[in-house]
Amino acid sequence: MLSVAETEKIILDLVKPFDPEIDSEILPLTKVLNRILAEDISSKLDFPHWDNSAMDGYALRYADLDNLQELKLAIASDEIAAGVAIAQSLNQGECVRIFTGGMLPVGADTIIMQEDIERIDNFLYLKVKPNQGDYVRRKGEFIQAGTTLIKSGTKLGATEIGALASARCQTVKVYRQPKIAIISTGNELVRLNDSQPLQLGQIIDSNLYALSTLIEQSGAIAIPFGAVCDNKLELESIMQEAISSADIVISTGGVSVGDYDYVEEILEKMGADIHVRSVAIKPGKPLTVASIESILNVNRSEDKILYFGVPGNPVSAMMSFWRFIRGAIAKLNGSHKTHWYPQFIKAITTADLHSQGRRETYLWGTLTYQKGSPIFQPVKNYSSGNLISVIGTNALAVMRVNQTYLPAGDEAIIMLI
Ligand code: AMP
Ligand code: MG
Repeated sequence: MLSVAETEKIILDLVKPFDPEIDSEILPLTKVLNRILAEDISSKLDFPHWDNSAMDGYALRYADLDNLQELKLAIASDEIAAGVAIAQSLNQGECVRIFTGGMLPVGADTIIMQEDIERIDNFLYLKVKPNQGDYVRRKGEFIQAGTTLIKSGTKLGATEIGALASARCQTVKVYRQPKIAIISTGNELVRLNDSQPLQLGQIIDSNLYALSTLIEQSGAIAIPFGAVCDNKLELESIMQEAISSADIVISTGGVSVGDYDYVEEILEKMGADIHVRSVAIKPGKPLTVASIESILNVNRSEDKILYFGVPGNPVSAMMSFWRFIRGAIAKLNGSHKTHWYPQFIKAITTADLHSQGRRETYLWGTLTYQKGSPIFQPVKNYSSGNLISVIGTNALAVMRVNQTYLPAGDEAIIMLI
């Protein structure tokens, strides 16, 4: 049985990141939210494009103030609103009304804000002497043309999309979304849209919905391959199909040591390399990680597909995703350089935490903030089969191997999900 850290390393080492040339697409800026940039974007423009005012006030020539008995300047007749380019330069002893974003006239180098002046007729009386350069946004001060604006691997959100728009990028090259196949295995499974009443022993294939959601949240595309009975031939054929159409395959169930657990056996028969068979983690001990050649996969620069056989228990299946698969997706789509998964913080636990200490144990609950400090409230009962107990969960406390007890009020390591 491998440790959590060993398993994570094996998985990340197996992931070959997308090739920015092959595994990318060019999209309009309106379609790139949460996508990962596949190229460095360099700015074609200086930011700001020209010297401009950061305030509503008056633009002046700082040197003029040196020779004055009284801080008084003549006000030029023009007004400079944003969007107006003024041709004539500012004369000595003169100032000009300017508004935020207005372009500084030649010669002006300082802004005095309107709160700091008194205007009488066409004269400006300065209540304070400004510092040279006050409230001036200098051309190229934020970034100069030709330098990198946003690096490849950056996840695009509102701030990046806004910056790209201001740099006149109408389209950008982003990594394509990884395609992740989901297979649910088990004789007991019934599709959600099945109209028949549930027979004794049957349950709805909820893993499909939980995992698809996690996949979509991670910026990938979930491809459902349905629920398959514990039948070797049927399962093998679906697994083969999934492997040839996705970047990563996840199957749930059938990876324990039960008589109907066939996933590993089929992978071996198909010639896969099995890298992980079980992990010292709770929940989520049975985990099969394999890599397998996908000759049919023409979509991908990489010919090996990663296969995750995760446990069927709903919480365990999600655990495998949160702890291992999320990070693999981030490495695949190039975002791991800026967004590392999983993320851990420290928080005070409101109740005692217990673990048997044999495996790294993850106890779910809710992370909130009280007076600005993170507080973790664990749930009362943990069962990897109890999907209801994870409703509302946004974090898990981590108990390391051999750590059996952490009293309420102590600081716990918390994994964010
Ligand atoms: P297994 O890993 O196949 O031994 O399944 C472990 C437990 O998870 C059993 O109680 C299964 O009924 C349940 N389970 C398996 N697959 C799913 C699924 N797709 N959705 C919900 N529960 C499942
Ligand atoms: Mg099963």
